Amino acid sequence: MLKLGEKGAIIQRDNETYAIAAHTPCGIVTPELLRRLANVAEKYNVKAMKITGATRIAMVGIREEDIDNVWKDLDLKPGAAVGLCVRSIRTCPGTTFCKIGQQDSLGIGMKLDEKYHGMELPGKLKIAVSGCNINCAESWVRDIGLYGKTKGWTLVIGGNVGAKPRIAQELLSDLNDDEALMAIEKVIKYYSENANKGERLGKMIDRMGFDTVKNVLT
Ligand code: SF4
Repeated sequence: MLKLGEKGAIIQRDNETYAIAAHTPCGIVTPELLRRLANVAEKYNVKAMKITGATRIAMVGIREEDIDNVWKDLDLKPGAAVGLCVRSIRTCPGTTFCKIGQQDSLGIGMKLDEKYHGMELPGKLKIAVSGCNINCAESWVRDIGLYGKTKGWTLVIGGNVGAKPRIAQELLSDLNDDEALMAIEKVIKYYSENANKGERLGKMIDRMGFDTVKNVLT
């Protein structure tokens, strides 16, 4: 039998009920999916539906005995909201919808989500992709961030929010889609081989020195 954490259930402040959030890659939802979420929320009397910073829709206030049936009715996978793994891949609308987008953030974000969402790593890792340097997806404060310019992607690493915020540092620029994906693969491999348990990418960079990390990765 799966533990509650493995079912993506997070105990709430009342110490009685749980929140769950389905995996909605890059925050894209359809009317059908929203109806299904709403129907399940009504069926199990959830206390609230909350759009999260990871662009998921959390269902809050679920009774423990209902968790399995909620997931069965939703027919969706849980979002990786806790644990040492790739948590969220956040993207802005990019050239798919935004008038001033320079690169296809949704397209590359979906590829990153498919490949990395939930991957176990030494620490939690968040990724963001913004279609231009306005950085609506907040790429500068994610462990791995991309933002688009006319000539291609700029890759920044080591950012995070939290108790000790850190602004990312630029690793590479003018990358096409394939080069950006390959560079990210290298960063994740290097992080998985060199970070201590629980150490975020930014902390690892501070420990090892940005120049050392950059020399290996570029
Ligand atoms: S980051 Fe740029 S492309 Fe993305 S939504 Fe903001 S303005 Fe548009």
